[in-house]
Amino acid sequence: MIEVNTFFVETHTHLDLIKRDTEEVVKEAEEKGVTKMVTVGTDLSSSKIALEFTSRFRGVYAAIGFHPNEIKILDEQKLIELEKLAKNLKVVAIGEIGLDYYRNPNSAPGQLEAFKKQINLARKLNLPLIIHDREAHQDTLKILAEEAKGLKVLLHCFSGDLNLAEVGIERGYYLGIGGVVTFNNAKKLKAVVGDVPIEDLVLETDSPYLTPDPFRGKPNEPKYIPLIAEKIAEIKGISLKEVAEITSRNAQNFFGI
Ligand SMILES: [Zn+2]
Ligand SMILES: [Zn+2]
Repeated sequence: MIEVNTFFVETHTHLDLIKRDTEEVVKEAEEKGVTKMVTVGTDLSSSKIALEFTSRFRGVYAAIGFHPNEIKILDEQKLIELEKLAKNLKVVAIGEIGLDYYRNPNSAPGQLEAFKKQINLARKLNLPLIIHDREAHQDTLKILAEEAKGLKVLLHCFSGDLNLAEVGIERGYYLGIGGVVTFNNAKKLKAVVGDVPIEDLVLETDSPYLTPDPFRGKPNEPKYIPLIAEKIAEIKGISLKEVAEITSRNAQNFFGI
């Protein structure tokens, strides 16, 4: 059993997309020990909602940004708006930003531009980056190497292989591990989790998506973070308490929370 002083940090949820009373969602997560969470914006309006949640709930922080699927062209006005929002003290990262060639293979030039502009904004504001990379590993790594030197980087919902994980870790990036690790067929991710030091991992649900087993198929919520932690503990042969403590410390260091 988890001791009372053990807690989890949920590094990636979309509270605005969970179709249930947010107060209930946050409360039920807290009951499971998930006492701090980062809710992630994907465009201006969801970033504004994320900020509203941070003022309503003490343990909720915000990442704000334009998701590659939500932006074709990032004009100056939108970037200025984003910068204004980012001045809020509970904004702990720019994200999620990055590249998605799975859903939007054709808008690559626009995605690349928007990605670079937002990395520059993070540098200006001295904020960490939450990176979305779907089937765009090589370009993502290249842009991060060129543009994000010295910035803190979290590769959320990590989906690469061991080789990519090692490149990321060598650069000091954190890997976000979510519900996929509980799936039977997630051999590649399990191998990564088994090999990479726990000191380089953080927990996330990406709720309402990617619900862990045994609730796969139902909407995901931050309260399922312990299921992900349990699976990591099992794979690595360490205790759940250790997973909770180390990943929480990682996340707190990363976000400064
Ligand atoms: Zn994502
Ligand atoms: Zn997300």
